[in-house]
Amino acid sequence: MPATKPSFLHRLRTALVQWIDADYCPEGAAKMRQEPDRVDWVRVAPFVVLHLGCFGAIWTGWSPFAVGLAVVLYFARMFAVTGIYHRYFSHKTYSTSRAGQFLLALWGATTVQRGPLWWAYHHRHHHQHSDEETDAHSPHVHGFLWSHIGWITSRRNFPTDYSKVKDLAKYPELVWLNRFDIVVPLLFAGSMYALGAVLQSFAPGLGTSGPQLLVWGFFISTTALFHGTSCINSMAHIMGRRRFQTDDDSRNSFLLSLICLGEGWHNNHHRYQSATRNGFYWWEIDPTYYGLKLLSWTGLIWGLKAVPKSVLDEGAGKRVPSPPAFNKVVRSSGPR
Ligand SMILES: [Zn+2]
Ligand SMILES: [Zn+2]
Repeated sequence: MPATKPSFLHRLRTALVQWIDADYCPEGAAKMRQEPDRVDWVRVAPFVVLHLGCFGAIWTGWSPFAVGLAVVLYFARMFAVTGIYHRYFSHKTYSTSRAGQFLLALWGATTVQRGPLWWAYHHRHHHQHSDEETDAHSPHVHGFLWSHIGWITSRRNFPTDYSKVKDLAKYPELVWLNRFDIVVPLLFAGSMYALGAVLQSFAPGLGTSGPQLLVWGFFISTTALFHGTSCINSMAHIMGRRRFQTDDDSRNSFLLSLICLGEGWHNNHHRYQSATRNGFYWWEIDPTYYGLKLLSWTGLIWGLKAVPKSVLDEGAGKRVPSPPAFNKVVRSSGPR
């Protein structure tokens, strides 16, 4: 008997439950990942609300404190994206204790970029299939817009493939955070509101309020953080110079390194993923690495991995062209 297509109501109910329980997949996660790309508008409604919330500034106004907090939270959480979700959970470039790992995961979850296992699974897949047809966010294959924001809205990209992150899936506390990935962002948003309300009462001179800090500390800062991070997916394979001959078209960009605290040295990273630093040479600024070095002095993390001398020698003073397959910047556009 041919399989019947799920009804609209079924799909709606599924997407609503998935807001709370990201692992809820009645038809099976593996089957869902095989579907063609399709934006799931109900599922991504919270993501749309995140963007719309920025317009709340029209009503709440601004204050130097609120804007300053948004900037501080952008960089504190960009560090969590790069130093924690990327350099720890995706690549294990340093070590920590189990409790330390959980603390880092909580910090990472405040970025509102879903759970640590989902993030690591997609990122490891990117390294395995960089700029190939199955790479979820290659600007060469899918175009700028899809690799920047489209892929994250596609139904097939929502489930985590736990078989690809077995080293992390053995910790139930991480799986819980990954499954209920809305909990920490909601607590974070609520704490912004509460902080603003308290400051309005006890430090009225700051000119802030609960709604104002919710808008600046959560909505605006988090939306900027998403787009800053996404620049790596959409631009780090088309903008900048290449030092190492890799199979993909990854590039090194000083500008992206400023926005993303050192992640712009993307060609270096594709050449050697196991190092804690992405800026391989002293002049390649890598604030994430400096932050991780500071954290290592506290004892929370240790075992930072260096770049082998052979790799440093290989890249010193080099500039190489893109592989011939990438001479044309965009091969096609749109989803797979
Ligand atoms: Zn990576
Ligand atoms: Zn890449």
